[in-house]
Formats: sequence, structure tokens, C-alpha cells
Amino acid sequence: MLLGGDVQPLAAEAIACGADTVILAEHPLLEPYTTDPQTKVMAGLVLEHKPDMLLLGATPNGRDLAGRLAVRLRTGLTADCTDLTIDEKSGLLVGEVTGFGQGILATIECPRHRPQMATVRPGVFTRPQPDPSRQGDVRLVPVELSEADQRVRVLRRSTSKGVDITQAERLVVGGRGVQGDFALLRKLARLMGADVGASRVAVDQGWVGHDRMIGQTGSITRPKLAIVCGVSGATQFTVGIQDAETVVAINSDREAPIFETADYCIVDDVFQVLAPLIDALEREKAGKKG
Ligand SMILES: Cc1cc2nc3c(=O)[nH]c(=O)nc-3n(C[C@H](O)[C@H](O)[C@H](O)COP(=O)(O)OP(=O)(O)OC[C@H]3O[C@@H](n4cnc5c(N)ncnc54)[C@H](O)[C@@H]3O)c2cc1C
Repeated sequence: MLLGGDVQPLAAEAIACGADTVILAEHPLLEPYTTDPQTKVMAGLVLEHKPDMLLLGATPNGRDLAGRLAVRLRTGLTADCTDLTIDEKSGLLVGEVTGFGQGILATIECPRHRPQMATVRPGVFTRPQPDPSRQGDVRLVPVELSEADQRVRVLRRSTSKGVDITQAERLVVGGRGVQGDFALLRKLARLMGADVGASRVAVDQGWVGHDRMIGQTGSITRPKLAIVCGVSGATQFTVGIQDAETVVAINSDREAPIFETADYCIVDDVFQVLAPLIDALEREKAGKKG
């Protein structure tokens, strides 16, 4: 389902990426996103088409809409999934969710109510390579909305200069063990052509912005290489890095759980490791220039 003000061009993109049918609902009150008009239109479409499953992105808007829709449709919602599968026997949608306390990974099904609803974190699934030759069906549906359906109005939009670490190919990540010295991590990141990510503790301490947080309440990343410094490796963190191709962890505690996720484990003081590494990379760069 594609809802918005002028979103028709996106229908072809959705088909190229794998959709067989796009239900297109366009109306000026659907743009910019506000909860009530979107809920009204989408709930109407769901009641008409009765899908078995309804998936939304766990973006700020998707999270907002999914909660309201689940209540409107009197069904359950597995929010913020870090994976989705179909149970082979029952055919039910199984959502994987973290955050029921340290170390618990829950799988949730919705056996009795329909649709089975879930929101999925950005970065959990890779975007398919678009195939422009794919054919699909675009159904433009009539939308009946009036000003009375919109209780919230967007008066002004302001955009911050956020970073999107979900797309980073390389990440240098810091946690409490870095003791606020993100300048060091930024230096390494610059030399490696990497972005900087952080654990929640580092964000809560104000060492870096929230848009760099990795994990359950941050971003799900899938870099080719992540160097993870002074992070203990709580499940809520590792869920955001578990799909990285290669994880190098540096931690002074050999029992730190991050070593269970890491491909390369360096048991040492992070500063003892990073300083010579930065030196070596700087020397290599200078050598190349020379
Ligand atoms: C509902 C919920 C959601 C959450 N969501 C997230 C989330 O999205 N992302 C997230 O990150 N956390 C999240 N958390 C918090 C998470 O449980 C952990 O508390 C957090 O990840 C810990 O951050 P940390 O590893 O930086 O700090 P700590 O757990 O304190 O670990 C610091 C590590 O640094 C090491 N260290 C210390 N000094 C050095 C040194 N000099 N050299 C090398 N190593 C050193 C220590 O051995 C230790 O392992 C969430 C928690 C809850 C309850």
C-alpha cells in the first residue's frame, strides 16, 4: 500500500523491487504524514482487502501508524522486529524482538487475530536490487478525506543534519570504555573512510548524537567492517551489529560478551591499541603521498 500526496512514481519502484500489486492512495491530506488521515485510509484498505499480514517500517512514522492501526483493527502488533520468519508448520508470521531484559530474544506470533502486524527496523533486510523489467499491477483507489479527518497540522518542518549509519560500509564504534574520547575514534574513522557509531551509554553520556546509536533503540547496521571499542556487548547493542561482515572488538575484559559476536577479539586497553593503529595508518598515508 502506497499512501501519500503525489507518490505514483514510487509505484514503479516498488514493483521493480518485488511488489506484484501496488494499491495507490493519493490525497493532499496524506502529505505530509499525520496519524489520523493515514490511519483512516489504511484501516479502510485493510478491512476491504483483509490481508493475512501487514508489515510497516519501524521508522518514526511507521511506528506511529502501526500502533494506531493495531488498535483500530483490534489486532496485535510485534513492534521493532529485528527479524521476521514464517513458521513452516503453522504458516504464522514470527517476529524476533529484543528488549525483555538482558539477554532475552523473544519470538512472537499472533495466532488468533488478523492481520498479523509487525514493524521492522530499517537495515534489518537488504533492499533488493531493482529490476525495471518486472511487471506489476497498480490500483489507484478513491480516497475520501476531509479537513475534519486531520486533527494535527504540520505548520513547519525543520531538518537536522543527521547521519545515516545504516548505510555505512565501515564503522568505528565506541562505548563507555572509550571514556568520552570520541576524537580518537573520529580520527581513526577518517583514516579508514568509516563512520562513527556508539553504544547507548556513549550517547546517554552526550559523547555523540543519538543518530549514531547502534542497537535495539538505535540503528541496525550491516557494515563490511566494524571496529567496536570499549563496548560490553549487551544484546540490545549486538542486535544492531550482528549482521556486520567482520567485527573486531577491543575490550580490556576478556570475559566481555562482545567477544561472542566478534570475529577478531583484542583483549587490551582500547587506547593502547588505537594509538599505534592510528600512527601506522597515518604513516602509510604519508608514505603513499610521498
Ligand atoms: C530497553 C533497552 C533498550 C536498549 N537499547 C540499547 C541500544 O539500542 N543500544 C545500546 O548500545 N544499548 C542499549 N541498551 C543498553 C544496553 O543494555 C547496555 O547497557 C549498553 O549497550 C552498554 O553500553 P556499553 O557497552 O558502552 O557500556 P558498558 O556495558 O558499561 O561496557 C563498557 C565496556 O568497556 C570496557 N572497557 C572499559 N574500559 C576499557 C578500556 N580502557 N579499554 C577497553 N575496554 C574498556 C569494559 O570492560 C566494558 O565491557 C538498552 C537497554 C534497554 C533496557
